[in-house]
Amino acid sequence: MKKILSLLFLLAPIIMLAQTQWISSSEKDIFIRNVNLVPMDSERIIGSQDLIIRSGKILQYGLTGVLKPGKNDFVIDGTGKYLMPGLGEMHAHVPPIDNMEPMKEVLTLFALNGVTTIRGMLGHPQHLVLRNQIQSGEIIGPRFITSGPSFNGNSVKTAEQGEAMVVAQKKAGYDFLKLHPGLTPVTFAAIAQKAHELNIPFSGHVSYTVGVWRAIDAGYATIDHMDGFIESMVPGIEDIAEPDAGLFGMFIGYRADMNKAPALLKALKDKKIWVVPTQCLSEKWFSPEDPGILANAPELKYINAETRNKWLQSKKDLQQNPKYHPAEIKKFIELRRKLVLACQTSGVKILLGSDAPQVFDVPGFSTHDELAYYVAAGLTPYQALRTGTVNVGEFLGIKDLGVIKAGAPADLILISGNPLKSINATRNIEGVIMNGKWIGKKDISAELKKLEKTGT
Ligand SMILES: [Zn+2]
Repeated sequence: MKKILSLLFLLAPIIMLAQTQWISSSEKDIFIRNVNLVPMDSERIIGSQDLIIRSGKILQYGLTGVLKPGKNDFVIDGTGKYLMPGLGEMHAHVPPIDNMEPMKEVLTLFALNGVTTIRGMLGHPQHLVLRNQIQSGEIIGPRFITSGPSFNGNSVKTAEQGEAMVVAQKKAGYDFLKLHPGLTPVTFAAIAQKAHELNIPFSGHVSYTVGVWRAIDAGYATIDHMDGFIESMVPGIEDIAEPDAGLFGMFIGYRADMNKAPALLKALKDKKIWVVPTQCLSEKWFSPEDPGILANAPELKYINAETRNKWLQSKKDLQQNPKYHPAEIKKFIELRRKLVLACQTSGVKILLGSDAPQVFDVPGFSTHDELAYYVAAGLTPYQALRTGTVNVGEFLGIKDLGVIKAGAPADLILISGNPLKSINATRNIEGVIMNGKWIGKKDISAELKKLEKTGT
């Protein structure tokens, strides 16, 4: 009996792979024939290449016809297609709950959209379990970096409480700390100091009374949402109450003085603070657009009715706020685009992050939207793609993550157009390879179908 049980245990990962249609390079080499590579080491395409994947890594590539597939290899025809590194979603949310099933759904949505690394921005003890299960191959999902539970005005009332939380989260094994609004200069300083002492990075929001300058001085790993940027550029901000400024300064952004941007950008660059814009939030949630149009986006079918309605209501409520004036909000969104471009041109490093699931941002799908917003802001498609590939590898310190070269992790997307010409090509997915496991278009559609929610 014991023998049978241990055999079943050994078979478990393979059974799971078969169920979810992923083909693993730890069982057979994957040979992609005659494909255009988008290596992301510079702005170039390498045409007509064959590429071999073995045991989760890119083994080698070469001009079509030079390398020979083994007779057991799983061969994929890449003719006319483009192979690029998988994307990182650096502002993702995995449900912070005990139930694993909704977490797995979110992971699957990311993976089927070619998102092969995610940074979870609101942690939960179960996320540590999930991270281990992904690492061991028990669950198929994107590489998962996770914060602990949130530091905010409710969870941290005193400096001592903040310090104790840092100690506990470091001990528990979280990758970083997530800061939310509501911290004071005192509690924030205590958290930041303890985090540096214990060598655990902190990321996320900038609390209103802390302000972006204290945040920069304290050395955030990433400032997400460009939180605090616009507030710091509005003259007389000291006398404006937080509710009057609105989230990310949306109600006062039209008054921001762009002349204040260069000093801010220089400080971010000097302190090596990365920026995760989550531009999707302002373009979708805050924009004066008709909420009904956004609520009808095809990818919303993967979100349950309750959440969909909540999102719709939150956009409607915002538009009803007496402080909400469409022309001013448009200016604010335009200013954010300018800041994204200014980060790029000033050498502040950007990480791709859309914030999903979140108002009209559906996991995986919104990562591609975010890329398109960067291009709309003025980045070239190559620069935009770097934010989700090379930059992710550099930020996480994972060797060769986000590039195509021998020895690099086999996290790849096969697409049907040249993404350096049109950023929207990343959406035309022919197949995804995540940690050396392949899933093709037909199976992606079938898996997505299973995740559709019924009801209105
Ligand atoms: Zn978020």
